Formats: sequence, C-alpha cells, structure tokens
Amino acid sequence: DADGRFADVNPGYCRMVGYCREEVMSKCIADFEAVATMPQIQAQICRILESGHDRFETRHRHCEGHWIDLEITVTAVGQHHLVAFLRDISQRKAADLALRELSRAAEAANQAKSDFLANMSHELRTPMNGVIGLTDLLLETPLDADQREYLQLLQQSASSLLDIVNDMLDFSKIQAQKFGLETTEFSPAAVISGLVTEMSEQAARKGLALNFYIEPDTPPQVCGDAGRFRQILLNLCDNGIKFTNKGGVSVRARFTAADRGAHELHVSVNDTGIGIPLDKQQDIFQAFNQADNSITRQFGGTGLGLAIAAKLVSLMGGRIWVTSEPGEGSTFYFTVRVTSPLAGKCPAQSLVIAQTE
Ligand code: ADP
Repeated sequence: DADGRFADVNPGYCRMVGYCREEVMSKCIADFEAVATMPQIQAQICRILESGHDRFETRHRHCEGHWIDLEITVTAVGQHHLVAFLRDISQRKAADLALRELSRAAEAANQAKSDFLANMSHELRTPMNGVIGLTDLLLETPLDADQREYLQLLQQSASSLLDIVNDMLDFSKIQAQKFGLETTEFSPAAVISGLVTEMSEQAARKGLALNFYIEPDTPPQVCGDAGRFRQILLNLCDNGIKFTNKGGVSVRARFTAADRGAHELHVSVNDTGIGIPLDKQQDIFQAFNQADNSITRQFGGTGLGLAIAAKLVSLMGGRIWVTSEPGEGSTFYFTVRVTSPLAGKCPAQSLVIAQTE
C-alpha cells in the first residue's frame, strides 16, 4: 500500500526472500529493500501512484543475508495500492559482471602485449643498427671475392630484418595508440621524386621502369606529416617493385580541395605485376594478411606494410584502396589531408628514373 506495507504476497516472493508468508506480511517493503532508503521508497511510491507505472532494478535482502538482484515492474491499482512483479536477475547480473571482468582482462592483456612488442622492437633495433653499421665498415676493408659476397648477403639479411623490426615497432605503436603525427611544411614533389630516385636502383635490378608524374596544380609546399606520407608511398612502391617482374611501376599525384579549407593529396601507384584476386583485395589491408601465402613466401614480407599504411592514411584523414586484375597489375590509391601554406603552382614534373634490362 501507499505506506509500503504488504496487502498480499505470493509464494514465489516468499521463496525468493526465504521467509514464510506470515513473516513477510508482518514486515514492510523497506525491510527487504537493500539499495533505497525509506524516504526514497516513499517518494517513489508517491511518484508511481501519480504516474501509474514504473520499471526499475534494485536489490532485496534474503533472510540468510545475501542480496538478490531484481527487476521490478510496478503498476498503481486505484489510489492507494500498487502491484509489483519481481524478476530475479541475479544470474544475468553475475554474467554481465563476469563478462565485463573478462573484457577488462582481455584489454589489459592486449595492452601488455602491445607494450611488450613496442619495447622489444625498440630494443632489437639498437643491436641491428650495430650489425648493419659494422658490416658497412667491413665492406670498406680489403676483402677477397667470397668474403665480399658473404658480407653483402649479411648486409641484405640484416637490413631486411631491420625493416621487419621497424614495421613491428610502428604497428605496435599504432595498436597501443602511442602514435603521433608531426606537421611540417614539405614539398610533395620533392618527397615523391626523392623516393623514386632512391628506389630506382631496386627497380633497375629487376629491369623495371619506375617513373612519376605530378599534376601541374599541385602546390609547391603543403603542411602535413612528410615522413609518414613518404612511408606510405615507400611501402606501395616497394610492393609494386616486389610483385612485378615485367613492365614497371608509376606514381601519380594530384591535389584537390576538400572541405573547410583543407586539401587532399591523391596519390596512385600503378604496377604491371601479378595482380590481386578480387576476393583478397579487402583482406590485404588487415595485419598479417597476404593474398597468397605460397607466392608471398617467394617474395618475402610480413603482411604488415599495408596494415600500417591503412592506419597511417586514416590518421591523416584519408582513404586507401586498390583496383587490380590478376596477371595484369594493380593500382593502389590513397589520399591524405594537408593544408596549403602558400598559394602557388609548381610546373608539371615527370621523370623516368630507371629502365634497364
Ligand atoms: P608484405 O608485402 O610484407 O607481405 P603488405 O601488407 O605490404 O605485406 O602486403 C600484403 C599482401 O598484399 C602481400 O603479401 C601481397 O599478397 C599483396 N600485395 C600488396 N601489394 C601488392 C602488389 N602491388 N601486387 C600484388 N600483390 C600485392
């Protein structure tokens, strides 16, 4: 009733709280309620008598002292009485709690793994740089042909290992959300031409052409993270060269206005290589995913490069995607947001860097 006394109670409630009917009838609702105080209960009864209905969760005390989690639906009957239906939700609550605890533990484990990976990769880099540096020095000393060949192989293996370690470090930093971008003023044309020049030898060794074209309206200077922009492009060009045996790789860049004064750099990297089947074209942007394990084993790689590129692109407010025809080649596209510090135009630049058989 309006004072919280029982007018009637069914055997289900008596079993729930562990008292017999007479004991329950001699008490009032506040004797069972474990969360709300008497004034709060009275205020709630008044509200329900006015509104006619309420549904809420609370706890009642069992005669042995433990709590029962309840979902209660209350309806007003006339001016002075309420009828309440109580559902024991203790199991659901316990399951929710266990689930929350499990997910917290999983997050902590994931965080620990990312921290471990980040620390390990960092620690691995120092001795690797030592190995590479000393190999370079050794290569400058008098050596016979065999020694020189072995050392060159050692140098190649060490730098591949360093690339893998660097990928792991980047990936774990991104996973651990410890990854920041640096905004500086840079020339997209200079970054692209510099990178293409650097990679020309790699392309020439496979007899591939490597060239680039920058649309004339691309501004000479933009503001953004030049290092990360270069890293994305490097990864795409490296893959292009890696997965192409005949023909070549070409990079194109253009600039478009985006919303709110920002601009977008659009870059594409086209190759005439092995191509990627349609059903793999999404998966390759996931970590540790390679389109074809048997083919990739032949070409090497960790399957992290595109996952890192995709994360970087999204941090830089852009998108990355691919179109490809197996046997014909692939074109990777990406956009990044930059701001333009200077108004101006640079001349169309295009260059064929390497094409030797
Ligand atoms: P990795 O090259 O180290 O294996 P990536 O994340 O860079 O890792 O690439 C993932 C996979 O996508 C590659 O293993 C390959 O199967 C496929 N792939 C990427 N770029 C190309 C490309 N230009 N041509 C054909 N396949 C490619």
